[in-house]
Amino acid sequence: MDTPITIGISACLLGKNTRYDGGNRQEPLLVETLRQSVTLMPLCPEAECGLGIPREPMRLEGDPENPRLMTTVSRRDLTGPMRNWCLHRLDTLPDKGVSGLILKARSPSCGKRVVVQGAGENAYSPGLFARLVMERFPSLPIADEEELRDPARLADFLARLPWGG
Ligand code: SF4
Repeated sequence: MDTPITIGISACLLGKNTRYDGGNRQEPLLVETLRQSVTLMPLCPEAECGLGIPREPMRLEGDPENPRLMTTVSRRDLTGPMRNWCLHRLDTLPDKGVSGLILKARSPSCGKRVVVQGAGENAYSPGLFARLVMERFPSLPIADEEELRDPARLADFLARLPWGG
């Protein structure tokens, strides 16, 4: 059933096989709960920007304020292509009526708080897509699936959506 509120969600959380290893990280309880009241719109920065499925794993490295997105074996720097794709994709979100985002925790693209390699202990950054979306839409409700396993945080996230326009 289509509902007036649309939430973007990392595609792997919906059960789509978009991860680097060709698998997913489906969150069935969360998804079924949300589907009762919102429309879920899948997005996958890494697959949609053309990196393929499966693909080489990647991680954040360097300066936590401006980390690079690097593949772990071939050492390709994907920061530029991913950033360009993200900026283009973010332009489309208002037209799609996206009122909030649920992002895969700890992903170097989607995660809200991701370990940065080579920056010492306890160095974290948002994933590349997450950082750009938070910069572009600072008031957009954004959560990850680990936060939303807590019923109180799920209720808080839902309360921030623009019910009734
Ligand atoms: S975490 Fe994000 S980039 Fe990785 S598979 Fe899921 S949706 Fe795609």
